[in-house]
Amino acid sequence: MQENIKKILIVGGGTAGWMTAAALSKVIDQTYCSITLIESDDIGTVGVGEATIPIIQIFNKLLELDEDEFVRKTQGTFKLGIEFVNWTRLGHRYIHAFGDVGKDMDAVQFYHYWLKMAQMERAEDLGLYSIAGVASARGKFMRPFDAGNSPLSNIAYAFHFDAGLYAKFLREFSEQRGVQRMEGKVVASELDPDTGFITAVRLESGKTIDADFFIDCSGFRGLLIEGALKTGYDDWTHWLPCDRAWAVPCENMGEPLPYTRSTAHSAGWQWRIPLQHRVGNGHVFSSNFMSEDEARSILLNNLDGRPLAEPRLLKFVTGKRKKFWNKNCLAIGLSSGFMEPLESTSIHLIQSSIGRLMSFFPNKSFDQEDIDEFNRQADFEFEKIRDFLILHYHATERDDSDFWNYCRTMSIPEALTQKIEQFKKNGRIFRNSNEMFSDLSWLEVMYGQGIRPQGYHPLVDRMPVDEIEKRLESVRRVIEKSVDFMPTHAQFIAENCQAKKIY
Ligand SMILES: Cc1cc2nc3c(=O)[nH]c(=O)nc-3n(C[C@H](O)[C@H](O)[C@H](O)COP(=O)(O)OP(=O)(O)OC[C@H]3O[C@@H](n4cnc5c(N)ncnc54)[C@H](O)[C@@H]3O)c2cc1C
Repeated sequence: MQENIKKILIVGGGTAGWMTAAALSKVIDQTYCSITLIESDDIGTVGVGEATIPIIQIFNKLLELDEDEFVRKTQGTFKLGIEFVNWTRLGHRYIHAFGDVGKDMDAVQFYHYWLKMAQMERAEDLGLYSIAGVASARGKFMRPFDAGNSPLSNIAYAFHFDAGLYAKFLREFSEQRGVQRMEGKVVASELDPDTGFITAVRLESGKTIDADFFIDCSGFRGLLIEGALKTGYDDWTHWLPCDRAWAVPCENMGEPLPYTRSTAHSAGWQWRIPLQHRVGNGHVFSSNFMSEDEARSILLNNLDGRPLAEPRLLKFVTGKRKKFWNKNCLAIGLSSGFMEPLESTSIHLIQSSIGRLMSFFPNKSFDQEDIDEFNRQADFEFEKIRDFLILHYHATERDDSDFWNYCRTMSIPEALTQKIEQFKKNGRIFRNSNEMFSDLSWLEVMYGQGIRPQGYHPLVDRMPVDEIEKRLESVRRVIEKSVDFMPTHAQFIAENCQAKKIY
């Protein structure tokens, strides 16, 4: 007879802790199992992590959130993609826009037709065939609606939000569903001498809290997964050399843009995330190639408006735990590993860990085969995202600093080399079944970073060139017209989800 888990303890109340608590409390009845979350007001949260990707809508649906209320309460805005400035070379920009590019024709992806025409210099920029790309450039936004064949039926979007308000929002949600919150600092953990499983954590106050299953959401420190269980860490700094970020909010100047901007500097890059009440900014850089002081002044010299606080320095080591799930402890969020926010993937990794936890939800026997499979799937996901991030640094023409020379010439993982070589040959992009980024994301970034295929799908040649040109132009015009119809991003927010003003 199997024995079910009766007590879950989540250590940490940042985005990871409260997302986990919210999701578990939505699907688990308190009579089945109690859920407690401990957080320390003294330690606080990392306080960044404000840009997401469209898949977060699945999480919102699981929680059955009212999206307008969620945006209003988090000072949120909408995000249609990421604009990359100065990544390929100085002065160059491209957009990695969410969602479709064109419309597939005769069982071949649209982009292969576009590639042929681009090679003949008879096509416009790739971004002009994507509704998210064009709407971004024109500061427009609306949610998709049933508009038949129109691209307006299919607008992929994500959110920008204030990380502190997001945790608060999810805390309210979780507490309403029975999650017990405790304030306190965990100072030690107790292990079973035979199994090495965690049995309890001890607070500074002297109080001991026991549980069957521990979820470590304690941030970079990995209090349980590393502190108690010494799980170990794979360091990926040689591929992704940035190890610091200065973060600072600044005043909004003008209407919020419906996309994140990433501007490359000489030893890293700067994010710009527009919210309703402010803009979030940060400079991610490599301390091997730039001093902290220089990185700080580059950030302050490149803000749109007046800074609203002193810049904060965050230090990190890119990589992942050797095991995400070890014994009766699962690490979610920064405690499980970290990759810089270039493609806004960390909150997604929290979400997918929660999803995987639902699939592999344990009983008290903690089946080792389940745990191994969980870890295998999580490794795969981390590694695929890592390769996508490396692509941005490696595929560049920049040779204006030691940092870019290092990134351009460094050796890269074999799987990434294969992906690039395949694309260069005939434009084909193969996506492994559960890989997070779609082939269109890979296309936009590979092409955007200057990689040019020599060929394209051979079946494209079934269609006469003039016909392809006519169809491309028709797609471009339909998208242009659809975007004419959309309100501005600011109008959409004002009409649907304007947050309270914060002075
Ligand atoms: C520079 C930077 C930029 C980022 N930008 C993005 C982005 O744009 N998009 C994105 O998806 N992600 C981004 N991330 C990642 C994102 O911020 C995190 O994934 C997310 O905030 C989750 O953090 P967390 O909850 O794991 O950790 P934290 O926010 O650090 O929370 C840790 C929690 O553990 C508690 N705690 C720690 N020690 C103890 C203790 N001893 N006792 C009790 N409680 C304790 C703390 O009080 C806190 O509540 C970024 C990260 C960084 C560093």
